[in-house]
Amino acid sequence: MARGKFFQSVSRYFDRAAAQSAVTAGMLRQVKTCNAVYRMRFPVREDNGHITVVEAFRAEHSFHRLPTKGGIRFSRRVSLDETIALAALMSYKCAIVGVPFGGAKGGIVLDPSKLSSGFRERVTRRYTAELIRKNFIGPDIDVPAPDYGTGEREMGWIADTYKNLRMNEPHPYACVTGKPLGMQGIPGRKQATGLGVYYGIRTFMEQADDMKAVGLTPGIAGKRVIVQGLGNVGYHAAHYLQCDGKAVIAGIIEREGALYAPDGMDVESVNRHRLDTGSLEGFPGAEYIKEGHSVLEKDCDVLLPAALEEQITAENAGRIQARIVAEAANGPVGFDGEAILSQRGICTLPDLYLNAGGVTVSYFEWLKNRAGVSFDRMFSRHEELTKISLVETIESMTGRSVSPPVRRQLVHGVSEEDMVVAALEQTMIQSFHQIRERWKSRKLHDLRTAAFLLSIERIAESYEQHGIFP
Ligand code: GLU
Repeated sequence: MARGKFFQSVSRYFDRAAAQSAVTAGMLRQVKTCNAVYRMRFPVREDNGHITVVEAFRAEHSFHRLPTKGGIRFSRRVSLDETIALAALMSYKCAIVGVPFGGAKGGIVLDPSKLSSGFRERVTRRYTAELIRKNFIGPDIDVPAPDYGTGEREMGWIADTYKNLRMNEPHPYACVTGKPLGMQGIPGRKQATGLGVYYGIRTFMEQADDMKAVGLTPGIAGKRVIVQGLGNVGYHAAHYLQCDGKAVIAGIIEREGALYAPDGMDVESVNRHRLDTGSLEGFPGAEYIKEGHSVLEKDCDVLLPAALEEQITAENAGRIQARIVAEAANGPVGFDGEAILSQRGICTLPDLYLNAGGVTVSYFEWLKNRAGVSFDRMFSRHEELTKISLVETIESMTGRSVSPPVRRQLVHGVSEEDMVVAALEQTMIQSFHQIRERWKSRKLHDLRTAAFLLSIERIAESYEQHGIFP
């Protein structure tokens, strides 16, 4: 797919699903269109004292629910088209997992691998000030989060800038999610997208009929996975697939090249090697392939693109050997690429469902910031006391006592992270079954069409209920 065609690809997925719905044409246009865009250029001083002009965007796709929500990325390929496409995906994603937000996305046209920490900070703070000036950020307006090339550090700068410029607001830190824990972040947010990807794949793989249709036996254990991207999403997804799911990580693709080992490699060791040396090259026990992109086409059961959009296109889709393509990134499979994959019987687990774990946990963080209290604080001790009295009752009834380590394990009160992870797991399982139900009952061609249809119907219903049309 040519550059600049990302929104077109998302729109074609949208139209294909919309054709199956009873939603009126005018409403469909409203659900599809991007409602507001802020395009900015601002000056920032480089480390050597020179001024550089930075180009950036924020797109708010849909206001059926407020605030709008979506990450901010640093990437050289950021464009207006890309930002709008990603904002649209956020609207559909939130609707799929029942997060009551509209969709948004921000992008800054800079290569994240080439930025000093000081320059990054100046850009991030200035970008935040621009958003404040135009009312494109705020706990009830639009709430950014991490995305490609950004993380906790940038979210901390955004929160701090906002708090300082909006002193009088009651919950200024609710203006952004994915913050560091010490700045009212939430435990579990960092791994949330990757963990959600794992739960999504696991749930699909438990469906014996669907697995049979793609020529695989049910279950993750022993399935060979190739991961593209060892960033936050790819790393965590691969980690959970390997450690919890017992999958075999057969390939890892990064910017500089790829590793391939059909019998598997240890994700932790690969990650450590790359952090230490700055490259995948030289990792023992796997073949290093300089032309990394070609590893997408190697033999495996699951291909997990977890980097950027437009990775599988009409050009390479005919050579993909995986049975399942799991979209951990946003938009990695273009419309024309998907048509070829599906003709060849390859199943795609769509991004708008599969990577929705990040925004799900962002929702919990936002709720916590607004409540001004962590989730466990009100329950943890009460739960512990209830469990202690249960154990004591059992002990007195049986005349036997529980050993101290077992007692500790049984009676501990729930932690905030336990609650977040359990709620994320439940969301991913439930949402999958809702999509699958649509897929089967409406006899739709694929899971993506079912997911889009579900989102479209939910967003249209929300617009109807809120009656915002003049
Ligand atoms: N950037 C992430 C995404 O694409 C997270 C968005 C959020 O948490 O608001 O889903």
